[in-house]
Amino acid sequence: MAAKEMFAEPTFLECGFGELEHKVIGQGTCCLCGNCLTFCPRIGVRNHKPTLLEYDPLCGLCYAYCPRTFFDMPKFEEKIFGRSRTADEALGIYRTVSAARATPIRGQVQDGGVVTALLIHALESGQIDCAVVTDRNSRWQTSPKVATTPEEIVAAAGTKYTITPSIAGIQMAMDQGFTKIGFTGTPCQIQALRKAQLLEEPYRFGQEKIALLIGLFCMENFDYQKLMSGLVKEKFGLQPNDVTRFEIQKGMFRAVTPGGVKEVPLDETDPFTWPGCGPCFDFSAELADVSVGSVGSPAGWSTVLVRTKEGEALYSSAISSGKIESQPVTEKALALVRKLAGNKVARFESNAERLRSSGVKFDVVRI
Ligand SMILES: Cc1cc2nc3c(=O)[nH]c(=O)nc-3n(C[C@H](O)[C@H](O)[C@H](O)COP(=O)(O)OP(=O)(O)OC[C@H]3O[C@@H](n4cnc5c(N)ncnc54)[C@H](O)[C@@H]3O)c2cc1C
Ligand code: SF4
Ligand code: SF4
Repeated sequence: MAAKEMFAEPTFLECGFGELEHKVIGQGTCCLCGNCLTFCPRIGVRNHKPTLLEYDPLCGLCYAYCPRTFFDMPKFEEKIFGRSRTADEALGIYRTVSAARATPIRGQVQDGGVVTALLIHALESGQIDCAVVTDRNSRWQTSPKVATTPEEIVAAAGTKYTITPSIAGIQMAMDQGFTKIGFTGTPCQIQALRKAQLLEEPYRFGQEKIALLIGLFCMENFDYQKLMSGLVKEKFGLQPNDVTRFEIQKGMFRAVTPGGVKEVPLDETDPFTWPGCGPCFDFSAELADVSVGSVGSPAGWSTVLVRTKEGEALYSSAISSGKIESQPVTEKALALVRKLAGNKVARFESNAERLRSSGVKFDVVRI
């Protein structure tokens, strides 16, 4: 039976890469999540942009699954949580919120090491058969990695403040035959993968193999070239491989080296941010199974929002097994997380308004 008889006509047939280029990439709203280039073999990356590598048959897949062409948050919430959020749920829908840290902390984790511990626990308990993580080399150049052992997960711990099409690691995992794939990444990447899982379109590219989504809090991300030359080399007088850790704390962007710390106020890093982060409303990875961030918890701990049934089972089992310890977060700390989420929404709204008034069809809907 022909595909057309089996399925309803794809809604976005004929919206090919040209449309994606015109409405997203050319407008500077691409967040380089990696969805289009992961699931379409005809798309690659050149000069940090998705690029068509060969003839486009106009199947519509790249356009349909890009989180920036259209995104109906309430519909995805209905599908994942059985309801959309109420007006007072500024961090999206979640079951529990707590502060947590890994026991013991393994490797060079960013905060409480909770992401690393949860991925290891999911792997060891069979919930996932591999974890797609974002690794780096000594020059802080990043790449997606398929981790299949706790040691490989630990080796990729720590935050890299540069945009990476990490979703490409999902295709690498599928190519290696994995069928229960865990992923951790930024809120835009979680949105893209939820779109892949839940959009009612007849494209099948293995999305049922995505088994776990751990999201990171994220206010903005940076362009590798701009950050390394404009900030690290020019302002800090360092080479990328001098830096052992980057962190954002108390409004300062900091590079930690064996010889000390260099820092600038966060607003001085604006020239280095990734342009596609402007039209982004999601601070706390609102569609993940579990979301993890630093704000709201003491140093060395992470704030954890458990959202789905699967996330809850993983988190409570990791606590029972002794891999994670948890404690309550204060209402004051939670108010700070909500405030940052609100700031991001305000930034999104002004960017969305600017795009729409300059004639761009921007169909991202938050509530
Ligand atoms: C770009 C970015 C911006 C962030 N901004 C904020 C913020 O404003 N406020 C806040 O509270 N928290 C923010 N975070 C989250 C915070 O930095 C920690 O990642 C989080 O607290 C988890 O800490 P952990 O010790 O549990 O993680 P770890 O156990 O150290 O694990 C971190 C995981 O993050 C993944 N990762 C690292 N860099 C990237 C990347 N560039 N893209 C995708 N995945 C990556 C790695 O694969 C690793 O598995 C941000 C993270 C990123 C990547
Ligand atoms: S936002 Fe993601 S899916 Fe959309 S064009 Fe950019 S990389 Fe491709
Ligand atoms: S700010 Fe938004 S678009 Fe930018 S990396 Fe974070 S989640 Fe992605």
